[in-house]
Amino acid sequence: MNVTTYLKRQFSNLNSVIHYYADDLTEEEWLTRPGPGQNRIGYTVWHMPRAQDHFLHAWIRGEEEIANSDRWAHWQRLKPLGIGVGITLKESDEIACSVHLADVLMYADEVHQSLVTWLAEIGEDVLDQVPDAQGCLTAFPEYQTPGYLEEVNNLFAKPGELLMKDNKLEMDYDVIIVGARIAGSILATQLGRFGHRVLLLEKADFPSNTLSTSFFRAPALRVFEKVGILDEVQSAAPPMRIMWNYIDGHVISEPVEAAEEHLRFFLCERRITLDWILY
Ligand SMILES: Cc1cc2nc3c(=O)[nH]c(=O)nc-3n(C[C@H](O)[C@H](O)[C@H](O)COP(=O)(O)OP(=O)(O)OC[C@H]3O[C@@H](n4cnc5c(N)ncnc54)[C@H](O)[C@@H]3O)c2cc1C
Repeated sequence: MNVTTYLKRQFSNLNSVIHYYADDLTEEEWLTRPGPGQNRIGYTVWHMPRAQDHFLHAWIRGEEEIANSDRWAHWQRLKPLGIGVGITLKESDEIACSVHLADVLMYADEVHQSLVTWLAEIGEDVLDQVPDAQGCLTAFPEYQTPGYLEEVNNLFAKPGELLMKDNKLEMDYDVIIVGARIAGSILATQLGRFGHRVLLLEKADFPSNTLSTSFFRAPALRVFEKVGILDEVQSAAPPMRIMWNYIDGHVISEPVEAAEEHLRFFLCERRITLDWILY
């Protein structure tokens, strides 16, 4: 796979993840801190597309950011806070309280569209070039603050490809698993919990539908319980507690059996739903 295809997939997955977790957030959840002293969820959701917008447009392409376009003019008062790095907790709270979920999701889609369109148009050589970020950024006072410069200092003079990939990514793993469906993702989770560094590789787009692994009985339910996702899997489909058999014109029904009382049911779930949960 070439690097532009890889990046397109990564960014598409990221945008799907943003929607999966954020689409139905309530206002209360938007302003919640996951832990004491941490940024509010709304800030984090805003910051992800905001950083992509910044690195693609200002750093790599030397263009105006989408956040500075007329459509997002109502965000102008956040301009001094830049992309929200090197700022105080109070300032990140100001961002979470000023931006609204529906706007942020629309903005994320716009940034994402711009990213994948650009990646589809360029050759890989473009990503090898070192952008003149310091030159481009001099025009923007919000990117001249000590906090911002401290955060991004180690990114100057890096080629575009490294800016867009996780620069902390090290190819140093205890285990590499090929295939991230039911077996691979559960094995990776378990090994990760035992403290192993695991790389999980998958050639298909995730999440996606495939005609398999839709119907679960007790053995599968036991595994879901062991890895801690049974409640989530169970909440995505109605439990089937009675089995109906049609034999030679006779219908025979019997309750679903399992050693554990709480696992006496079958589940039938779309594969894309299970992918989301395992993902
Ligand atoms: C039509 C059908 C219906 C089924 N229905 C059920 C059911 O209802 N209930 C049930 O329990 N079981 C069902 N099964 C069986 C079940 O699908 C398999 O037991 C299960 O999918 C095996 O899981 P797995 O993770 O090992 O492999 P898979 O689900 O086959 O996943 C393997 C993954 O590896 C990826 N991969 C392969 N090669 C590479 C590579 N070189 N690089 C990167 N990635 C790679 C693939 O893209 C794929 O995502 C069904 C099977 C079929 C075919």
